[in-house]
Amino acid sequence: MIRVGVVGACGRMGQIVCRTVVEDPDLALVAAIDRSRVGERIGPLVGHPEINGVNVSDELDSLTDAECEVAVDFTHPDVVRENVRWCVAHAVNLVVGTTGLTEPDLNGFRELLEHEGGESNVIVAPNFALGAVLMQHFSAIAARFLPAAEVIELHHEGKADAPSGTALATVRRILGERQAEYRGPDAESLEGARGGELQGVRVHSVRLPGLVAHQEVIFGGQGQTLTIRHDSMDRSSFMPGVVMAVKAIASRRGLTVGLEQLLDLPPTR
Ligand code: NAP
Repeated sequence: MIRVGVVGACGRMGQIVCRTVVEDPDLALVAAIDRSRVGERIGPLVGHPEINGVNVSDELDSLTDAECEVAVDFTHPDVVRENVRWCVAHAVNLVVGTTGLTEPDLNGFRELLEHEGGESNVIVAPNFALGAVLMQHFSAIAARFLPAAEVIELHHEGKADAPSGTALATVRRILGERQAEYRGPDAESLEGARGGELQGVRVHSVRLPGLVAHQEVIFGGQGQTLTIRHDSMDRSSFMPGVVMAVKAIASRRGLTVGLEQLLDLPPTR
């Protein structure tokens, strides 16, 4: 039985993670951290009133007090860096779902783990939906043959960052694979109409109520387009990936970036 704590336990993702942990026979929910609903029992909040003894706390110390082996962070880009530092300093393995982390952040985590993280591992995945990981993998393959690409990501109106971590990761994969430069037209009469741009790949972020997490990658070629699309219809889509990471983290030394590292996908660059 792996002892799991959830940071951001009362948020949209955190609540589902808590429920998933409670319902998995190999996992035990031992701590729930959030700055909202402090002192409340987490069980009733996540549809499991039979769970006693786990109350929402705003102190990360309750992870170590509860002898938590793996923490799962779904909080906010402003606090996740500090949570990583805390978990590394306190020898708690940490699965990070919070997005908005940059390459320098990841390099910083790597350094931190090398210098003081002998007893903890960190997995950071900007998207825990298996289908979204496959979408990125297929996009990397398509980019070898069709270098002209634009990414449209669509999320709920509460999302704190734009573009999404998944969109940025997809662009990096496309750039790593494509065999030729491509730069489309820049002209726009309304600022932002062409979206953001990374080395010629345009990224468009849609934020609307009713959406969960969706992305399409459109490749253009002579007389044809190829669209690769993934839709998370609800937040349960992320749970198999989160559980996979929680169960794998003890054997993943140091920093692991991306759920794809845990899947046995054929290699791309
Ligand atoms: P959310 O509903 O706002 O939940 C975040 C929770 O964290 C809230 O309860 C928030 O409290 C709490 N929180 C904020 N700062 C805190 C702190 N200092 N200490 C303790 N708790 C704190 O957001 P969400 O929709 O669940 O998303 C959370 C993150 O997960 C976002 O970065 C999102 O992009 C990411 N995400 C990742 C994936 C993936 O597959 N990797 C999938 C979906 C979402 P307040 O309500 O008081 O602010």
